[in-house]
Amino acid sequence: MDIAVVGSNMVDLITYLERMPEEGETLEAPEFEMGCGGKGANQAVAAARLGSDVLMVTKVGNDLFGQNTIENFKKNGIRTEAVEVGTKTSGVAPIFVDPHAKNRILIIQGANSELTPNVVEGYKEKLKEAKLIILQLEIPLETIYKTIDIANAFDIPVLLNPAPANPALDINYVTKCTYFAPNESELGILTNMPVVTLEEIKEAAQTLIDQGVQNLIVTLGDKGVLWMTATQSHVIEGEKIQAVDTTGAGDSFIGCFAHYITKGTSIEEALKKANFYAAQAVQKRGTQLSYPTKEAFLHY
Ligand code: ADP
Repeated sequence: MDIAVVGSNMVDLITYLERMPEEGETLEAPEFEMGCGGKGANQAVAAARLGSDVLMVTKVGNDLFGQNTIENFKKNGIRTEAVEVGTKTSGVAPIFVDPHAKNRILIIQGANSELTPNVVEGYKEKLKEAKLIILQLEIPLETIYKTIDIANAFDIPVLLNPAPANPALDINYVTKCTYFAPNESELGILTNMPVVTLEEIKEAAQTLIDQGVQNLIVTLGDKGVLWMTATQSHVIEGEKIQAVDTTGAGDSFIGCFAHYITKGTSIEEALKKANFYAAQAVQKRGTQLSYPTKEAFLHY
């Protein structure tokens, strides 16, 4: 096994509308789309499409969405032996998109909240086989901490993507991770510092390095990515492309970076590949559907 993702799965329920309904009003919306999502699942799919052997540790709901999510993992070649069916409904994200592509999103955690430290403890022996463990923040924080402890005990590197941002995240656990990868707004929330200019981003990043973060990887949207350690700071410029849909860009970046790092690629080279991969993903509509396969990526 190459990568274990301990994280979330969601079903995106996307309604395209002319305007939001008023209170008490029933309104017809022109279009609806459904898709598999959730940060953990997205990252697992990106890595698996590139050819990584990925184990997904997650809880789906006791409903049709849950079954559909398991099918989607299988279709993408992801191991499902650590996918459990919870007692709650599946995690869902009702998304409302207006004609100007502005969106309003609700997140219902559902079964993701049932991915407890005990569940992860039960897969300890499987996690031991991974070359890298990836975590995000759509599952309980105690579960994140437990997984980091297990990874540290087995000397397995951890890639922590602190999304969505949670100011309660304990820095003492962050410093135990080999890679810490927020986007710029998450960096701002975690450090409580301005992150508008690159200089401000670097200053905020430096405060995390000063606290002991090992490899800080800050994704900067169309501006690319900043990689900072105690001894160097390096920006990889964004690809100059026309973005169509940036939903899930960060997840495609993380999944691709994880794929290459577990193949023995250097950090800088893996970041360049991920920057290229995410730029390719944002040129297509959809989240997981926009993530290139190994064949499509190589021919880019
Ligand atoms: P998130 O999806 O978490 O907000 P970002 O917006 O930082 O993450 O995007 C993640 C990565 O995707 C960036 O570091 C970059 O490599 C790529 N990317 C995102 N938007 C664009 C864009 N408009 N042009 C080129 N690359 C992009």
